[in-house]
Amino acid sequence: MTKHYALRPCILFLSAALSVFVQAQTGESLPIVDQRTDPSSPRQAPPGFMVKVDAEHGECMDEATRQQVWQEISTNIARLREEDPNAVPVERGTHPLFIWPTRAAASFTGYGFEIINNFVDHNPAFNNNLTDWNCGTRTYDWTSGNHMGTDIVLWPYAWRRMQEGVMEVVAAAAGTIVDKRDGFNDLQCVNAGNPNWNGIVLSHADGSTTWYLHFKSGSLTSKVVGETVAEGEYLGSAGSSGSSTIPHLHFEVHDGVGNYIDPFAGACNTFNGTDTWWAAQQAYKVPRINHISTHYASHEFYQCPVPETTYEQSNFMSGDSLIMRIYYRDLDNNALTNLLIRDDQGNVEASWNFNSPWLFGSGTWAWWYWLIDNSWATGSYTFEATFNGATYVRPFTIGMPIGLEENATPLFSVAPNPANETLRLSDLPSGNIRLSLLDATGRAVLNERSSSTVHDIDISGLSVGAYQVKAEVDGRASTQRVMIAR
Ligand SMILES: [Zn+2]
Repeated sequence: MTKHYALRPCILFLSAALSVFVQAQTGESLPIVDQRTDPSSPRQAPPGFMVKVDAEHGECMDEATRQQVWQEISTNIARLREEDPNAVPVERGTHPLFIWPTRAAASFTGYGFEIINNFVDHNPAFNNNLTDWNCGTRTYDWTSGNHMGTDIVLWPYAWRRMQEGVMEVVAAAAGTIVDKRDGFNDLQCVNAGNPNWNGIVLSHADGSTTWYLHFKSGSLTSKVVGETVAEGEYLGSAGSSGSSTIPHLHFEVHDGVGNYIDPFAGACNTFNGTDTWWAAQQAYKVPRINHISTHYASHEFYQCPVPETTYEQSNFMSGDSLIMRIYYRDLDNNALTNLLIRDDQGNVEASWNFNSPWLFGSGTWAWWYWLIDNSWATGSYTFEATFNGATYVRPFTIGMPIGLEENATPLFSVAPNPANETLRLSDLPSGNIRLSLLDATGRAVLNERSSSTVHDIDISGLSVGAYQVKAEVDGRASTQRVMIAR
């Protein structure tokens, strides 16, 4: 069987401050849906291209804000000790060993949800003089400061995942809440020293502190300043409050006398050198696939802080574009991915390799474009990627409108019913909606797209009988029965 396709990899580097990521993506127009490829003249595979995001020298947390936090911490501790002299440990001693400060919400079923975009900058000079703990440059600075924390970013679909509450922030070690801020706007798109962050600061048994910033408003634990939390206890959900351009956690550590700590031990860690503060320190690079997906459009729609439009779809009809996409964490130059498409009998329908031609990126994506024509049999398929020893699978179907989440509540209304010349669908959900009209046997007799809340379907050419109108958007679907009568 010959399939018509074009390989079209592309990449997005989140190598430095994400504000430029925002700039690079903002204003992108709505996608061209269903770009067709003429099977008689297959599209040439275009060369891969790379968007490398340059460091914008914004201020994730500037010194003025940090001093304000220290002031709040000392005021809070003084007040707590007035009530109870033993409140908040003062003893020095062995520092804690941290567990990872994030986890996926229980409802999250994907492969991965986060990347580390920026570490601490150990190069004291400003203006793009960068050194991370491993002597690389996965950090940033600005004209008057260095990045002093670890940025853990939702990837992909940061805004959508934030609204879903996917990244839960947990206590890296047992401690006492010594600062807590909530209620500030969590949809910030600029790094400009905005001091109005939501988050928590914990004091640990040795007097060291861990700082957790940029939470989603209203997501914080109900515990208040002075209460203790256990290791791994929920603190809040990642957002983009304060000086922030994308939903993420800024995790910052200080020892018992206020010195900076970088929990990652390494040759270029100028604070605590080879003394790790992690119970199990992650590797510098964690090459894996966070998300593998199928889409009906090749475009990205990103407009901070709007939840991303994903254009994901599970079922494809003849004539459709099928975009296969992989979102990587820590994809290195020349890293190999084995890709294949398997049918429901286990037969490999297509296989190919992808060697990344790009420089290292902490968050990158690649995609491949297929035209679904009648060389594809109706049925169930899987898109599989094997990368760095692990295999990632995305099921999809061709010609079988199944596998969608059917909404109990209709996504739209339809009138008149019975109808004669025109069906008017109204109250359609926002997004790019795929509409189909199925006859009594379930065969699609009409396929259309709509991106408005009202859409008219011309049914004058269809014979009388019972039909179903189906609307699909973002993996949701809903069906309504209609009659055509004349
Ligand atoms: Zn940060």
